[in-house]
Amino acid sequence: MYDTEAFRSAIRRRLFAWYRRSARDLPWRRTRDPYAVLVSEVMLQQTQVSRVIEAYARFLRRFPTLRALARASLGDVLRAWSGLGYNRRARDLHAIAGLHPQSLPEAIEDLDALPGVGAYTAGAVACFAHGVAVAFADTNVRRVLGRAILGRAATEREAVAIDMRLMPRRRAAQWHHALMDVGAIFCRSREPRCAACPLRPVCRYRGAAEPHPPRQSSFAASDRRIRGAIVRALTITPHTVAELRRLIGDPRVPHLVAALADERIVETFGHRVRLPE
Ligand code: SF4
Repeated sequence: MYDTEAFRSAIRRRLFAWYRRSARDLPWRRTRDPYAVLVSEVMLQQTQVSRVIEAYARFLRRFPTLRALARASLGDVLRAWSGLGYNRRARDLHAIAGLHPQSLPEAIEDLDALPGVGAYTAGAVACFAHGVAVAFADTNVRRVLGRAILGRAATEREAVAIDMRLMPRRRAAQWHHALMDVGAIFCRSREPRCAACPLRPVCRYRGAAEPHPPRQSSFAASDRRIRGAIVRALTITPHTVAELRRLIGDPRVPHLVAALADERIVETFGHRVRLPE
C-alpha cells in the first residue's frame, strides 16, 4: 500500500503541511556546519532535547571548531560535557577532532567509520549538513514509520527500508526533521496522541495496542548513575579509589573506575584517579 504514488504523496503532504506550521525551532537546525550537526546528533543520542539545547550552546562556545576541540585536553572536554552523562560520547568526539582537526569527511562510509559514529549519525550528518538524500532512522523515526506503515514500531532495518521508499529526495532534511518532531510530539512510545496527529488518516496503527518496550534494568541504570558520579567528582579534583568509594558510597566504585580507565575516560597516576590531561 505504501508503495503507491498516491500514498507517498498523501503522507508527504500531511507531514510537510504540519511541519510548515509547527516545526520545533531547534538551534542545530539553523546550521549546516557538519561539526555542529555532529555535536548535536551525538548529544541527542541519549539525552533529552530540552537538556541538549543548553549544553549544545555551551559546548560550541567552549569548542567552536574541530581544531579547538582537538587542542583541548580530554579532561577539559569531559568537564564541558558534565551533566550530559554517557561520557564515552565526549571521549569519541574528542578522538574524532584529533583525527580530523580541519574538517569532517563527507562520504557516509567515512563518517560511519569515525569513533562512536554509527549508521544513524553518519546518515544524519550527511543529510542535515550536506543535504544528501540518505535514509536513516532514530527511535522516533522507527516508531512513526513503523506504526504508520506496519502497525507497530519498526526495527532500524525495516524503518530504513521504508524511509528509502517514502523520503522525497529534494527535501530529505526537512522530511527527517518532521518525522522526528511527529515522533517526539505525537507518536510517543507509551501514550501516542493519535487523535491529534497529522498522520492519523494515513496511519495503520492509530492507537492500536502495542507491547511496551522493556525498560532499562535498574541495575544498569544505577551503574550509569555511579559512572556519572565518578566523572563528576573528578571534574573538581583527582581522588584515590578509596576516596571515591567513600564519597559515592557504593561498593561498585572500584570496579567501575577500572572500567572507565579501560575506556580511557579516566586515568590513574600513582594512587590517584583523574580526568585525562
Ligand atoms: S496516528 Fe498515532 S501511531 Fe500513527 S503516527 Fe500518529 S501518533 Fe503515531
